[in-house]
Amino acid sequence: MNFKSIPLFKVFGIQVNLDFSWFIVFFLITFTLAEAFYPYYYPGHSFLVYLFVGAISAILLFASVLLHELSHSIVAIKHGIPVREIDLFIFGGVAMIEEEAPSPKVEFLVAIAGPLCSFALAFLFFILAYFYPQNDLLNGIINYLMYVNLALGLFNLVPAFPLDGGRILRSIIWAKKDIITATKVSSWTGTMFAYFLMLLGLLSLIQGSFINALWYGFLGLFLKNAAKVSFEQTKLSVILSQYKVEQFMHTIKPVLPDETISEFMLHHYPMYNTRIFPVIGKDGKIYVVDIFDIKSIPQTQWDTIKVADIAKPLVAYVSPYDTLMKALKLMNRYQLNELPVIYGNTVLGIIKRDVIESLLERYMLQEKFGR
Ligand code: ZN
Repeated sequence: MNFKSIPLFKVFGIQVNLDFSWFIVFFLITFTLAEAFYPYYYPGHSFLVYLFVGAISAILLFASVLLHELSHSIVAIKHGIPVREIDLFIFGGVAMIEEEAPSPKVEFLVAIAGPLCSFALAFLFFILAYFYPQNDLLNGIINYLMYVNLALGLFNLVPAFPLDGGRILRSIIWAKKDIITATKVSSWTGTMFAYFLMLLGLLSLIQGSFINALWYGFLGLFLKNAAKVSFEQTKLSVILSQYKVEQFMHTIKPVLPDETISEFMLHHYPMYNTRIFPVIGKDGKIYVVDIFDIKSIPQTQWDTIKVADIAKPLVAYVSPYDTLMKALKLMNRYQLNELPVIYGNTVLGIIKRDVIESLLERYMLQEKFGR
């Protein structure tokens, strides 16, 4: 979570956040609907009424986007891929799906769930409009939601990674070749689609519709960047998922509960090239001590204070059989550079960020020199 977004609620264990940029789109949609759409098709009301109906429509659009993202998330969770949060922001929503799909089939199912949900919603509002044909504002809201959900489903089906359609394209190529080639191709179509949107922005500018130009321009920039980042992310994930933590960890012996800081500094600290040290607490649980915490304690007290007394509870750790990808994700999430490697209740070692980074550098070099 960051200070740029407001935590809304939790559903199916997924935290839903509202990004501040969403308010821009909320006001834009509310005003556009209140000034143009509703007065044109449903005349005869005051501006305040239109504003109210516009705001309700914008909130229901937001609910539709949320349901779209939830569909992706539920299918992902069903296939064992954790989803931590959904962020709603200016261009819609993003479900923070934690891992790459384990297979092309799962990727396909997760990707198609969103557009299918939007089409189902469009169909639902189509039925509602059929049974409520009165030419009033309620009918207006129903019609609006039918069109936006249809548009949401169609736009997301454009085969431009990382849009859903791009993910579907990727899953199909992945099934025939490999994930890297698949991501390369679908990121390329994603970038091309981004340029196409920017071109539309330029044409709108020439025609004098400034708001449309801005809209297309920003959306194009956003998608172009997202395609690039997603490609890098996939490459990283593919490389790091091949290796297990045990292959890269430094073995380490834990500090025992009765060791004083002096004993630790003499016997333990010089042996290992790490910053954190796992400590067995008096309760038998595993804690960690950071060398910086020790250095802040005056040396005169080192004989009397035990390491276990200043150790902190574990924030995160990995098992030796976890992938390096999982280790890196945990490090990023908790802003750590080292993680204890623990199996059962046994401390085995430490996995360090710089070891993972140097592995990635080797891959980068290999790519540069064409293997
Ligand atoms: Zn989607």
